[in-house]
Amino acid sequence: MLKRGGTIGILGGGQLGRMMAMSAAQLGYRCIAYAPEGDTVAEQVCGDVFANKWDDTAALAAFAAQCDLVTWEFENVPVATAQAMPEGRIFPHPRALETAQDRLSEKRFVEGLGGTAAAHACVDGRADLDRAVERLGVPGILKTRRDGYDGKGQWRITSARDIEGLNLPDLPLIYEAFVQFEAEFSVILVRGQDGAIRFWDSTRNTHDDGILATSALPAGQPIADQVAPARDLARQVADALDYVGVLTLEFFATAAGPVFNEMAPRVHNSGHWSIEGAATSQFENHIRAVAGLPLGDTDTVAKSVTMTNIIGADIQDAYAQLDTADTHLHDYGKAEVRAGRKMGHVTRLVR
Ligand code: AMP
Repeated sequence: MLKRGGTIGILGGGQLGRMMAMSAAQLGYRCIAYAPEGDTVAEQVCGDVFANKWDDTAALAAFAAQCDLVTWEFENVPVATAQAMPEGRIFPHPRALETAQDRLSEKRFVEGLGGTAAAHACVDGRADLDRAVERLGVPGILKTRRDGYDGKGQWRITSARDIEGLNLPDLPLIYEAFVQFEAEFSVILVRGQDGAIRFWDSTRNTHDDGILATSALPAGQPIADQVAPARDLARQVADALDYVGVLTLEFFATAAGPVFNEMAPRVHNSGHWSIEGAATSQFENHIRAVAGLPLGDTDTVAKSVTMTNIIGADIQDAYAQLDTADTHLHDYGKAEVRAGRKMGHVTRLVR
């Protein structure tokens, strides 16, 4: 168990790290961040920030020397960076990053455990793409296998003409058949160092342009019926990776049951509602798990919860929403508004 006053290193410096650090502070820990990207919003709540490159071995060693343990808030942290942290003092284990960073390997991994993923094909050039579209049909989505998030690195293919006009990037790609889903949901769990697992309720997630817009509870049908098999799969994934911390699996609820979309080996935007809406938030339980503390209850504490992201808009306008009872604003502290950029979120509860 991490002693009071211990230092937790966070790889990445975005809003997820910021909210993690706030929970860590509540539990008496200090956080430092390693964030080469610049524009680090975690720095407002972290004791120190290393702004060095991901492959700067001297800086990584200096960072690790200051940490009692290390975690991450960003799934595209290079695996080699995570592996440069002292073995046994980084949670989750870097193998989780390795599995989740490649859309093909995560699908194969989950299918190997009995899960169902969207029909897909590996695309390494135009000939592969032609074959994939012929086999899987349209509509479909072409995605970069690595480094994509929030709808980045994705192209919707609705007709053969879309392919002709496409300037294919020279990167490993995957073509996925479009899943006719009724709703989208995520399973978020926390797994402790002793292997104990707790799940939060699964929200109904809506997206705009591939970016999460809202998460709501109760999720209603058909999600309520599909959570149990989705949880079984998520538990298997967590156990197979001997995972420690918060893990997220995203699903499409379809007429044929849950279809796995992707996993995030970290706290997740669709779990932000848990800060006010659950007995213990995903951030607190992530810190508890990595620190070796007992996990907190994950029960929902309200009749309904809605989390709405503030994307590409001035957060100042959201203050007006605070005159509604039980409404909570989270400002991520980002100076510059950009299209598609998550600036904050608002959670509204009915108890
Ligand atoms: P992703 O980055 O893969 O999570 O994709 C972002 C969003 O795009 C998803 O949450 C869905 O709304 C949509 N999407 C991605 N892949 C598919 C698919 N194969 N079929 C239908 N919708 C998809």
